[in-house]
Amino acid sequence: MSALTITGLAAAIAFLVIFLILKIDKIKKMQAVVDKLKKSLEEMDEQAKLIVRTDIELNRTQEELDKKITGLYALQRLSRTIATTLEESQIFKTIDSSSFDDLGFEKAFAILWDEKENRFSVRLNIGIPGNEIEEHINSDKNTYLELMRSGKTFCSIATAQNPLLKEKIARFFKVNSFVISPILPKEGEKGLFFVGTENTDVAINEGDEELITILSNQIGQALENARLFEKTWHAQQELEKKVEERTRELTLALEEVKKINKRKTDFISSVSHELRTPLTSIKGYAAILIEEKLGHLPAAAKERMEKINRHSDELVHMVNDLLDIARIESGRQTMKMEEVRLKDIIYNAADIISIQCKNKDIELLTDIGEDIPSVSADRVQLERVFINLLGNAVKFTPEKGKITIKARSENGIIRVDIADTGIGIPVDSVSMLFEEFYRVDNDINQQVKGTGLGLSLVKHIVEAHQGKIWVESKPGKGSTFSFTIPAI
Ligand code: ATP
Ligand code: MG
Repeated sequence: MSALTITGLAAAIAFLVIFLILKIDKIKKMQAVVDKLKKSLEEMDEQAKLIVRTDIELNRTQEELDKKITGLYALQRLSRTIATTLEESQIFKTIDSSSFDDLGFEKAFAILWDEKENRFSVRLNIGIPGNEIEEHINSDKNTYLELMRSGKTFCSIATAQNPLLKEKIARFFKVNSFVISPILPKEGEKGLFFVGTENTDVAINEGDEELITILSNQIGQALENARLFEKTWHAQQELEKKVEERTRELTLALEEVKKINKRKTDFISSVSHELRTPLTSIKGYAAILIEEKLGHLPAAAKERMEKINRHSDELVHMVNDLLDIARIESGRQTMKMEEVRLKDIIYNAADIISIQCKNKDIELLTDIGEDIPSVSADRVQLERVFINLLGNAVKFTPEKGKITIKARSENGIIRVDIADTGIGIPVDSVSMLFEEFYRVDNDINQQVKGTGLGLSLVKHIVEAHQGKIWVESKPGKGSTFSFTIPAI
């Protein structure tokens, strides 16, 4: 081999080496680019996965939200019907299965603890036969009583709660998820409310637990309201019965009083009649003797005879008053109504009484409204009213006193006030004043005779005219007797 050939070979090898070195470097560079690209791709993949995950998460949240809204609607519907039910037996009847379907539960029941029977009884059952529920619950009643008394909602998703019980409930009622919540009204039977589902796709959450707790609270509240309503209703029935009984008793008592009163009136009336005949003859004989028609009468005997005559007059007066009261009371004495000018009656009565007033130096005033209309009245009886009231006023007013007769017309009714500045009437006597024979025990009554019939007669006459009579008095200051009488 020539030296030239060797040199050429060496140069070619050197060239090849250089070429290879350059290629390797390029390959390295390309590898770096490929690595970079791979990394970017991996990063992009990671991001895509994240986006998918977020999307799934969002969908789930949306589903949960939808479920919650449907649940809330169902709850609101149920609450409204439960809250407006006032009959205990109707409360559970208003709860229907469709409401639970909306909540995602196809099984539900409500049980109440009967203290007397010492057992739970089923009030509502959806998707599970009632006898099965009762049988199971009562065979294990202490567990359920404890659950009820704990006041806490028991839920299949709560990890901290008794797993054995959870398993037992799930197995017996053939459910995958469930919520059981106490019904705790303040009074009466308490109980438990259960909802559950077999569906493994339905994942119950804290929201469901909360909804069912609210619902069982509402059932408790509704039971409380119904019981309260029932109690009030019973109390009212009882009260009505009592009122009815009392009214019947009172009506009977009133009838009895009316009968007694009639007997009294009849008695007074017949006794007065019987008295009148002998009294007339006593008065007649006394008159013959006083007039000395049967011969001279010694002065002492004459004086006694005059006393007999005076007392007989008083007796006749009393008997007449009594007869009048009895007649008016029994309706036998009818008022002879006619158109009467009240002014005339008042002036006439004032005239009659003025002599007695003068004797005691009592000032007698009249104050009669200009517009006093006529009244429909029995003139004679109305005069008796004025004479009696004015007679009393004079009798019970000391010397130098004042008596005023006032008459006013108010809304078709005439009111008369007879006021005096006399001794007045003790407060505790006022209510008895218009009763027959009632007289206040005072100095004047001890000196001046009287029967205590005047005011009773006056009251009967006023009432027979559809009026009212009353008195206002201040002991030591004076009294005002007032009565009303309808105008024509
Ligand atoms: P009678 O009127 O039968 O002669 P009386 O005047 O005692 O007897 P009422 O007119 O019925 O009987 O009055 C009953 C009682 O009422 C009186 O005895 C008197 O105690 C009291 N009374 C009546 N009017 C007045 C009066 N204006 N002031 C004070 N007390 C009076
Ligand atoms: Mg009198």
